[in-house]
Amino acid sequence: MSTTASATLTTGPAAGLAPFAPPGSAEYAEATAAYQLAAAVEPVAAFTARTVQDVVHAVTTARRAGLPLQVSTTGHAIGRTGSPTGPLDGALLLRPLIDAPVRVDPHQRTARVPAGKTWGEVLPQVVPHGLTVLHGSSPTVGVIGYLLGGGISFYGRRFGLAANSVRSLTLVLADGQVVTASATQRPELFWALRGGGGGFGVVVEAEIDLVPVHAVVTGTAVWDAADAARLAPLWQEWARTAPPQITTSLRMLSLPPLPSLPPALAGRRVLALDGAATATTAADLPAARRIVEDMLAPLSAVAQPRLNTWAPAPPQALPAVHMDPPGPVAFSSDTALVGELDEAGWAALLGAAPSLLALELRQLGGALGTPVPGGGALDHFSAPLQYYAVGLADPDTAAATATDLRAARSALRPYLTGLTAPNFVDSSQQPQRSYDAATRARVERIRLEVDRDGLFARDVSPVRD
Ligand SMILES: Cc1cc2nc3c(=O)[nH]c(=O)nc-3n(C[C@H](O)[C@H](O)[C@H](O)COP(=O)(O)OP(=O)(O)OC[C@H]3O[C@@H](n4cnc5c(N)ncnc54)[C@H](O)[C@@H]3O)c2cc1C
Repeated sequence: MSTTASATLTTGPAAGLAPFAPPGSAEYAEATAAYQLAAAVEPVAAFTARTVQDVVHAVTTARRAGLPLQVSTTGHAIGRTGSPTGPLDGALLLRPLIDAPVRVDPHQRTARVPAGKTWGEVLPQVVPHGLTVLHGSSPTVGVIGYLLGGGISFYGRRFGLAANSVRSLTLVLADGQVVTASATQRPELFWALRGGGGGFGVVVEAEIDLVPVHAVVTGTAVWDAADAARLAPLWQEWARTAPPQITTSLRMLSLPPLPSLPPALAGRRVLALDGAATATTAADLPAARRIVEDMLAPLSAVAQPRLNTWAPAPPQALPAVHMDPPGPVAFSSDTALVGELDEAGWAALLGAAPSLLALELRQLGGALGTPVPGGGALDHFSAPLQYYAVGLADPDTAAATATDLRAARSALRPYLTGLTAPNFVDSSQQPQRSYDAATRARVERIRLEVDRDGLFARDVSPVRD
């Protein structure tokens, strides 16, 4: 720590807050580094915890100081919670990067994942065993944050929400106790944590079920934007009765002219269909290929794709397919769970919002639409489709993105269900409501039981209509 920073820690606003480091220090910079660059990450002080004992120390310090404590691992969703004046205004920030390996038990088909790991770090540990995890579209997403918000993967229609694969969570509560929540230990807390979002404590480890996967049939098919309004209703019709082995995403993409992108995508507005069909064994692979062929055939009969990379691949290939930005970016987004669109709805949505990078509808249904016995606060979605739109939000682009996000929402208004998937909400200012009233009340009651004084209250997503 620099001399100036140490002086601030003992005399400035961060005085008495060790192990939290003050603004200006290298430790502060490390703990506040976030994937989302559009949010002002300016806590009073910040700390990267490397051990469970570090987390306990941080929690007791925050409690003693009477300051709210917010948890951020990758900072993908750092704008989702916090104060209306700024996501971390007046709070302490804790970044749990527990320095321990992922422990895989191939016989039990489980893995113990320490807080701080991303899906991209976990995947290579499990794939050699013929197993995989229910990771999302980007390898950079943190395992714990994703699980707490449900977790929609391209394995979802086959295996369900990732939160349903959680066997236990170990966390540090507001009073400094380290507890484990599972079906048999603190079952109410276990219920709430699975999909109930943050704000219960600091999760230091998740024990998750692994699923058998031999290969995926995955890739992207790309059509000209001019064909989109004819193709999207056909995809929706296919999606309605598609087998659960496949989960897909249909997007209008307007990606920058980056040399790393295929020419069919770079600098063009296109319709893209990606996702994965899962072959759990080698014998399943022909069926998975057929499912993809059956999906693409009616679309290709209307318009030949400019690019089609769908092909069998090892599970490690899947996180690259959706082409999420690999590093920090300033972005702004909107999301909603929606019903099926009619032709006018598709035309309005697909024609709106030219400045956005992506206007996406993810296919739900299958196991993602099926309640799970013993499931948590969020174990399925009733809606058939999940909407997510995203654009750049640096000083040059933020205004156009905001305008286009509003236009796209306006096109979607007739189809909104009033609910959102919590993981896809990126800002506390967005419309969001993830649970029915009874579920929300139960989640809140459990939160209050473990955090009477609201130490973690700023880590809770607001309801906003
Ligand atoms: C490029 C990109 C792709 C995505 N793709 C998908 C996808 O395919 N499917 C999907 O479901 N979601 C997806 N998401 C959303 C992502 O799952 C959520 O933003 C998730 O909350 C990120 O968790 P994190 O830990 O990485 O982020 P952070 O911003 O670090 O954490 C988000 C919140 O999780 C909580 N949290 C995180 N770690 C802990 C912990 N150790 N203890 C207690 N609370 C904790 C806190 O409340 C925190 O505010 C994507 C996001 C991005 C940016």
